[in-house]
Amino acid sequence: MSVISQNLQAVRQQIAAVADKAQRRADEVTLLAVSKTFGAQEVLAAADTGQRAFGENYLQEALAKMTEVQAARPDLALAWHFIGPIQSNKTRPIAEHFDWVHSVDREKIAQRLSDQRPAQLPPLDICLQVNISGEQSKSGMTPDEALDAAPRIAALPRIRLRGLMAIPEPQDDPALQRAPFRQLRALFDRLNEQGLRLDTLSMGMSGDLEAAVAEGATIVRIGSAIFGARDYAKQ
Ligand SMILES: *Cc1c(COP(=O)(O)O)cnc(C)c1O
Repeated sequence: MSVISQNLQAVRQQIAAVADKAQRRADEVTLLAVSKTFGAQEVLAAADTGQRAFGENYLQEALAKMTEVQAARPDLALAWHFIGPIQSNKTRPIAEHFDWVHSVDREKIAQRLSDQRPAQLPPLDICLQVNISGEQSKSGMTPDEALDAAPRIAALPRIRLRGLMAIPEPQDDPALQRAPFRQLRALFDRLNEQGLRLDTLSMGMSGDLEAAVAEGATIVRIGSAIFGARDYAKQ
């Protein structure tokens, strides 16, 4: 068994165990395999074990990888999620090639993705990225901005607003890890009370997966625990 398939199995077991402890069903949590900086071969190795959803941060790298994977396995239907920072002049290829975008941090980006989503594709599924712990350096809407913009974004014709995403400041202490996830969940509940129909909380990475699942994550974005440490110099 390859290292990637062993890692995937371990991560799936970890998700199942925490979900069980939180009295949730394991199938309420989708595992997004974050393949940034890794190649088509690694994606194919993960796909061989049944993994279908992949997350990417860098547009050019992602498009080249998709082409390579498609050429190697034309039969394979994968879901590609864009999770990186978005420049407004890069929205068109994102709207054309991805199934999901987790990192919508401005209303203008949502508008452009809706305008540019090709008519023959289903609406693009999106999450609003929220800067929940208020760090200066992190991208994301403030909770107040998200409350204000979400109803207008949800009304755009060619995207479907599915939920919220956050990347809290890294914390080693599991007790401290839970607080920002709980805040994101509270914002999600508030938006649904206001009549939106959100079903997605994209939260949790390799280092804080358990805290995120305990607080209600429906998508966890896991990179290094599956593919190993990233080597950015190789890109
Ligand atoms: C890289 C990345 C991940 C995966 O991080 P790991 O710590 O390797 O699991 C998840 N989400 C986002 C937005 C990322 O950029």
